Amino acid sequence: MIITIDGPAGSGKSTTAQGVAERLQFVYLDTGAMYRAVALGFLRADAEPTTDAADRVLPSLDVEVRYPSDGQMQVFLDEEEVSQKIRTPEVGSVVSQISTLRPVRERMVQEQRRIGFEQEQHHGGVILDGRDTGTVVFPEADLKVFMVADVEERAQRRYREYSQEGKSISLEEVRQEIRDRDERDRNRDIAPLRRADDAITLDTTEKTIDEQVAFVVDRVKARQ
Ligand code: C5P
Repeated sequence: MIITIDGPAGSGKSTTAQGVAERLQFVYLDTGAMYRAVALGFLRADAEPTTDAADRVLPSLDVEVRYPSDGQMQVFLDEEEVSQKIRTPEVGSVVSQISTLRPVRERMVQEQRRIGFEQEQHHGGVILDGRDTGTVVFPEADLKVFMVADVEERAQRRYREYSQEGKSISLEEVRQEIRDRDERDRNRDIAPLRRADDAITLDTTEKTIDEQVAFVVDRVKARQ
């Protein structure tokens, strides 16, 4: 079974997807983490977010997803585990530019489909989150959810995450990062953020994480 959750930054996708994966013993694939790893690779190579740079840098970038025995997804860049290093405001500010590039998207989508099918075979269920997982990566998914939330609530959530991790950034900067990212993700030419026609919308503005997880789990069970 394949479940997709798409939506803008901070709408609660990853926390919900992880909770659902835990409850149902499914595998969680965070597609944003893969784009973030590519963005980190670009930053390290000092490369501009252009198609020319992508053609030059991508062939030598090794982005890999691994699942250690505790099931938590890890992302590797050139054999280095970067699951935490990709969660910085610096990566956050360039990732949506890099993810507009066709060579980057083609490679990520191909890899995400491969991982999705492989993990579904081994574990029976996969839950992916991102921006285009229900529209482009798995248009044939068994269940699609589109999550939304007020921008202020999303900024507060992301700000709390950064603060807990000891990253110094103001609420206003976080608000701006989210607005810029949403704008780029919604308006890009290839695979823009949009709700798939057959997706269920979930507004998480006033929902707790438990409620969000229960919402998705109930719908999965209804389809099983
Ligand atoms: O999910 P997260 O906020 O970590 O994603 C970071 C960025 O990666 C997004 O803002 C978007 O630009 C890009 N992304 C994408 N397609 C996906 C997942 C993420 O373009 N499926």
